[in-house]
Amino acid sequence: MTLVKTATGALTAVALVLGLGAPIPASALSANARFLWPKGSQIPVCWESLESDPFFRSEVQYAVEDTWMTQSSIVFYGWDQCQPNSRGIRIKVDNTAWPMVKADGVGLDGMPGGMILNFDVDKLSKGFDKLCRGAPVFCIRAIAVHEFGHAMAFQHEQNRSDRPRADGCVKAEYQGGVRRHNELNIDRYDPFSIMNYCNPDWSGNGKLSPGDISAISEFYPL
Ligand SMILES: [Zn+2]
Repeated sequence: MTLVKTATGALTAVALVLGLGAPIPASALSANARFLWPKGSQIPVCWESLESDPFFRSEVQYAVEDTWMTQSSIVFYGWDQCQPNSRGIRIKVDNTAWPMVKADGVGLDGMPGGMILNFDVDKLSKGFDKLCRGAPVFCIRAIAVHEFGHAMAFQHEQNRSDRPRADGCVKAEYQGGVRRHNELNIDRYDPFSIMNYCNPDWSGNGKLSPGDISAISEFYPL
């Protein structure tokens, strides 16, 4: 991959053509470049409280391990009770709150309640896709993978400066908040990224797109 400056000044990676002319698979993801973790980081994860459902907590862990961890050099470990001085990702389960992160990437390091998850699927179904209804594991896993994308410093794909403006994604863009800092893009806009509110499959069905998988190997190579 080659990094180039776009007309907006953003750094963009351009796929090279290798071998017999077969292009590298399209990759995507848009990062907050100042808040990427060092490659190969081992990042502790803890829960601010162990009062939430342990089954759902374990599903969050497995979802992250099955996606971002499998495809990158980043290791999330621990997943136990936070201590006052715990570093890494500190998760607060708040069943009245919108799932979110309070910072990108390394900005979350040691921040109490830096990531908020919600295990109340009835509540989630009011604000999220109907797929959440009656499918708590699916819903909790899909949201967790998206939020951990933010924890790896990835921003909402629909907010990329190079997103085609005629794709009908305007409403979702505002729902997601146009938060775009230190934009570092890999290749081109990916409508199927798990970080994209405009993904035709809600939260990417909790799975990384081929573009996500290709891009994660650029940001955090194995
Ligand atoms: Zn998000």
